[in-house]
Amino acid sequence: MKPHDFRKLIKRLGDLNPAQVQDAEARITELRRRTEAITEIESRGRASGRCPHCQCSDREKWGRTRTNIQRYRCLGCGRTFTGRTGSEIQNLHRPDLFLEVVKDMLGDRPPSSIRQLSRLLGLNKYTVWRWRMIILRALSGASSSAFAGIVEADETFQRESRKGSREWVRYQQNKGSHPKPPRRRWYEYGKKGIPMMRGLSRWQLPILTVADRSGARRFQLVSGRSNGTIHMALAPILAPDSVLCTDGMKAYAAFAQASSIEHFVIKTKPGQKTASATHHIQNINNLHSRYETFIKPFRGPASKYLEGYLQWFIARIGKVPPGDVLRAV
Ligand SMILES: [Zn+2]
Repeated sequence: MKPHDFRKLIKRLGDLNPAQVQDAEARITELRRRTEAITEIESRGRASGRCPHCQCSDREKWGRTRTNIQRYRCLGCGRTFTGRTGSEIQNLHRPDLFLEVVKDMLGDRPPSSIRQLSRLLGLNKYTVWRWRMIILRALSGASSSAFAGIVEADETFQRESRKGSREWVRYQQNKGSHPKPPRRRWYEYGKKGIPMMRGLSRWQLPILTVADRSGARRFQLVSGRSNGTIHMALAPILAPDSVLCTDGMKAYAAFAQASSIEHFVIKTKPGQKTASATHHIQNINNLHSRYETFIKPFRGPASKYLEGYLQWFIARIGKVPPGDVLRAV
């Protein structure tokens, strides 16, 4: 719109009656929602500055796409591109709705279910599911990888889930080429699902959780709780002068000794006092209880996606801005 016409439009706004003001307001909100996604995608295009086809950095503006995103033309290879060419969202018709899904996932309120979102946004639920998976992949780097000072470490568990798995179908169709999938036996069940064994049940996936006092957090699926596994997971992320606070599992003690890191064992049973006011594992306990609240509505996410859910949780806690996700996909 030309500046002159725009001034005229603004002037005419005074003539609106109250009902029309409401209509106009709703329309503006809708427009802002659309342009917000476009702004993020365009800033991504400006930031990279290179042609995704030939990596040439000379380009010219080349109109706008149907979804109103700035298009560029490469001066090297002559092909056109936008800020989302080559990304997982390059073919979305409604990047604005995609951003709404990101906002819902990272907002302060508990995330909506796929069904609720699809109803709210007028989309097919499989579309919302696919978008959620794209977003989970974009969040893969949410966990911190450097910890210092007083570092708390602990584990939590997630029940293994083969939700959506085709392994039994494949086995039934062709018993020769597919192995029989494992199945729980009667003695592996408790009154409330899979009980915690003295060791570790093969149906419980251990998650190593680490937090320090500066706000760095990490949730990581590990293959077990052996000394070697814990050492491999902690050694690359802990600063050499950090102080480790744990509940005293022997793998932590072994790691601390091997890397000559100071180690405090915190007793967590009721009646036992913590070692001191500063050496505690309350941050990690707090994180665990928030994780329980977060993961509960998913009724045990399929294990193949669990890593994504863990990073989603960390991103929510860390209040990652939705725009960052749009730039990361
Ligand atoms: Zn090019």
